[in-house]
Amino acid sequence: MLRLVLLSICLATCLEAKSYEGYQVLRLAPLAERDLKALNPLQEMPNLDFWNFPRDLMVPPSQLESVKEYLDISNIEFDVWIPNVQSKIDAQFTGQVSTDSFNYGAYHTLNEIYDWIDSMVADYPNLASKSSIGTSHEGRDLTVLKIGADTGKPKRNVWFNSLIHAREWVSGAACMYMANRLMSEFSTEEHVVFLLETFDFYYLPVTNPDGYVYTWEGDRMWRKTRSPNSGSFCVGTDGNRNFDFMWGERGSSRFTCSSTYRGSSALSEPETEAVAAFVRSKDFDIFLDYHAYSELMLSSWGYTSSLPDDYDAMHAAMKETTDAIFSIHGKAYHYGPSGPTLYATSGTTVDWGYGDRGIVHSYTFELRDTGEYGFALPEDQIIPTGEENYAGFVALCVHVARS
Ligand SMILES: [Zn+2]
Repeated sequence: MLRLVLLSICLATCLEAKSYEGYQVLRLAPLAERDLKALNPLQEMPNLDFWNFPRDLMVPPSQLESVKEYLDISNIEFDVWIPNVQSKIDAQFTGQVSTDSFNYGAYHTLNEIYDWIDSMVADYPNLASKSSIGTSHEGRDLTVLKIGADTGKPKRNVWFNSLIHAREWVSGAACMYMANRLMSEFSTEEHVVFLLETFDFYYLPVTNPDGYVYTWEGDRMWRKTRSPNSGSFCVGTDGNRNFDFMWGERGSSRFTCSSTYRGSSALSEPETEAVAAFVRSKDFDIFLDYHAYSELMLSSWGYTSSLPDDYDAMHAAMKETTDAIFSIHGKAYHYGPSGPTLYATSGTTVDWGYGDRGIVHSYTFELRDTGEYGFALPEDQIIPTGEENYAGFVALCVHVARS
């Protein structure tokens, strides 16, 4: 009897995706190092979620009063930036339809994305192929789409991946749009022929498939992987704090409940371990990790405010890329070294690409927007985001090919 009652409670709640009704995003204005210190304890609290540390903090309705009081006492100014997160989530599906056979203007489930990879391989047999580079904690394939023209000569390599942070849906949607442009324009655009004959592109659309499925079925705002942590009720590791370069330094958390939990050891997650093993198996000239949001292009270093030795080359490439992004829809993506531009981070892809692999052109992109919708970016912004970032991507690859 008791089990039946429990089951009926579970049926009502366990199958439902988490509601964000009444959750607010506060935009903070921390001014001094002292303010950042005051914010650090909030990072460790399981129910609070920095969408974008130290600026945008999501707070559940039950804790709004106490968090606002804490900020007042700490003299940190804030505005209620998003008064109800659920209303933004409800508004993300705008019913956008693109003219292609695949709807690039919509968000897609994991199965739809994997079907898309199959259709690309079928539609472009001379340019596209796929392979699995490993499996996730829950056993899902990590499928890479390889794009390139066979020239019979040695080629250079480009890596790009998206959705290592599960909730950053536009990163996957925009990169799929970009990958399609690369293939579809091979027959018409001379510069694309040049790129596909110079480089092989390896694209991993869903770097964190377990987390991505969970954002569709359980919790739209899930960020981390889905592996359990021993001795803790909090699940998951931040993949972008789990790489083995300066792992465990500043800007990553040792608390399992934190959204920036670094994991029990470097490359503890099968997803990050698979990416690292694959990228170590070839020489890459470009290594890109696509995220959202903030409209930024970031180079090394994240773990320190010192500039990397190759910063002049990085700066030139970032300027060219962000100029190209700006030329499409007038969006001015800021750029610079990750740590000084954003905040200190360690164990990240961008530092690993440069620090461990020696790939000078190792960058992190933060796509649209600057916080109006945050992670719940409406579908009608996917194609514009893809268009401007495709221009940036092409400019970057041409720049590297010629330098
Ligand atoms: Zn991210």
